[in-house]
Amino acid sequence: MTNLLGAVEIRALAEKMNLKPTKKLGQNFVVDANTCRKIVMLAEVNTSDIALEIGPGLGSLTLALLEQANQVVAVEIDDRLANQLPITASERGFNKDKLITLNQDAMTISELPIKPTVLVANLPYNISVPVLLNILEKFPSITRGVVMVQSEVADRLAAVANNKDYGSPTAKANWWANLKLAGMVSRSVFWPIPNVDSSLVRFDRIKELGSESERLATFSVIDQAFAKRRKMLRSALSQLLGANAEQILISAGIDPTDRGEVLTVEQFYSIGKKLVNGNSTK
Ligand code: SAM
Repeated sequence: MTNLLGAVEIRALAEKMNLKPTKKLGQNFVVDANTCRKIVMLAEVNTSDIALEIGPGLGSLTLALLEQANQVVAVEIDDRLANQLPITASERGFNKDKLITLNQDAMTISELPIKPTVLVANLPYNISVPVLLNILEKFPSITRGVVMVQSEVADRLAAVANNKDYGSPTAKANWWANLKLAGMVSRSVFWPIPNVDSSLVRFDRIKELGSESERLATFSVIDQAFAKRRKMLRSALSQLLGANAEQILISAGIDPTDRGEVLTVEQFYSIGKKLVNGNSTK
């Protein structure tokens, strides 16, 4: 016997709540308990974990997390869903003290009542990258996680430098974590069925390269480099680095004729450091 939610339970719950899933909030709910268990397993969630879930929706993944984790913190922007979640969890036999539900926006959340150790989420697709970056930035206690995102976004997040999918989200996420693809998820496990493919991305936190001011400088370098992706760095970064952009790049060990897409986050960092240290070319 499973306490998790399947297609029948999800439909019944949605009907009871008179819920019409909205595209705006990326509301495609997983209706397959095995998929949820697999995601939790890929994140290696165990009884010592405090799991953070963004966008619990009707609770499919939340219940699978409650089976394994010590506690679950679920952040949901839709107040009807946030109100229903603890009811669903206790109706299905889960200890209500294990679940903390917050009716908040994950784009801007910066504090939680307890320190999460793992992120597990089927992210709202239109904001998956900024939400992931916000969580990596604000909650350093998270050591690893698995997120489900649109396949195209997953390819970008897991790309390496000099690959067509590599871009600013990858370089920024790499400041905090190593990311790799962890499998595809069939469209048939969602209700309503989305018109894009979904994939899982596993991440593991790494030691940050530098200080907060160096990170902010590095991120502005990344933003400029990818805003003018086709341009050589000496030109793409001329506004940011000033008249002696070329010398600064050379002193950072970067070929000024390279384009941003070939640079790893470590290389962006070597430029960012120069910015923080007053553009010194020494
Ligand atoms: N986890 C559920 C599942 O797998 O069935 C639902 C996933 S659904 C793709 C995304 C969820 O994120 C929805 O419940 C939606 O209301 C919620 N959401 C959308 N934008 C959000 C935001 N800015 N902050 C928190 N939750 C958000």
